[in-house]
Formats: sequence, structure tokens, C-alpha cells
Amino acid sequence: FSFQLINMGSLLNDIIDRFEMIALDKKIRFNRKIANTPVYVRVAPDKLTQVLDNIISNAMKYSPEGGDIKIQMLQKNEHLQISISDQGMGIPRESQTKIFDRFYRVDKARARSVGGTGLGLAIAKELIHVHNGEIWAESEYGAGTTIYITLPYSNDQEGEHEL
Ligand code: ATP
Ligand code: MG
Repeated sequence: FSFQLINMGSLLNDIIDRFEMIALDKKIRFNRKIANTPVYVRVAPDKLTQVLDNIISNAMKYSPEGGDIKIQMLQKNEHLQISISDQGMGIPRESQTKIFDRFYRVDKARARSVGGTGLGLAIAKELIHVHNGEIWAESEYGAGTTIYITLPYSNDQEGEHEL
């Protein structure tokens, strides 16, 4: 793991830019709620990119045509919160913690129609825990899903910037 001081807003924007073209084919729009002021967090950028790639591609896989995906970054006191919300089929309550288990996929029907191994979120959970962060899902079955990630960061960022 190579930890670096990273401007999270620009990392997020770069990742979303990369997905935007593919999303347009499915008429999916990204709605960014990311402040312009830089927020620096010490992370392994390649690992965080892997986590966000999986969550955003899940959101796209399970979104209907014309759906909206909202990606928000919020500064709380002790941590930074990133959330990815889709308007897809949702996840039943009893599965909302299980989706972070290895090889778990919600149901056979959806597993058949959209590819995947069921490893993405299990890996994401491990990688976020290495960052001392948390990851969880909130979902309303039939209405949509939000995946939340928190990462610890210092609110006192003076003098920390590597320009
Ligand atoms: P992989 O990521 O390994 O290619 P995968 O996407 O099926 O495969 P995970 O990313 O671990 O695996 O997700 C696990 C399961 O959780 C998915 O198979 C799906 O059933 C459910 N899931 C994940 N994200 C969403 C979402 N945004 N909306 C609805 N269901 C979801
Ligand atoms: Mg996945």
C-alpha cells in the first residue's frame, strides 16, 4: 500500500469522468455533490479507486435506463463521508449486510442477468478497513441504494498540503 496525501474531490471527479461516457449509453446521469475546496486525505489512491470503481459500476449495473446516480462528498468533524446513491432495484433489508460477504449476490435472477463474481464489495470492505474507515449500505427495496464510505481525516489541514 502506498499511502499519499490526496485531494479526494479531484480523485472522485476523475473516477466519475471515466464512467461518464459508458453511463451515457445507458442514459444514466451522474449528479455530483462535491465541493470545489480541496480536502486532503491520506489514502492509497489505487485502492480507493478500486473501491469506488466497483461501487459505481454496481450502481450502473442495477440502475434502470434514465436513472440518476448521485455522488456526494461531505466533510464531517472527524471524517469525510462519500456516498453513492442509485435509483435501482434496491437490496432487501436482510441482505444489506451480506452483500459485503465474499461471493454473496442478492438473488439468482439478478446474478444471471448482470455479470459479476460477488467479490467486489467484500474487497471494498477490506480495503476501507485498512484505511480505518467504514462502509455500509442503506437501501429501500424497489427504490434504490446508497453505499456510504467514511474515511478518517484531520479537520486541521493547515500546512499539510503537498502542492
Ligand atoms: P463483482 O463486483 O465481483 O464483479 P458483484 O457486483 O455481483 O460482482 P459485489 O460488488 O460484491 O458483487 O456486490 C454483491 C451483490 O450486492 C451484487 O451481486 C448485487 O446483488 C448486490 N448489489 C450491490 N450493489 C448494488 C446496488 N447498487 N443495487 C442493487 N444491488 C446491489
Ligand atoms: Mg460489483
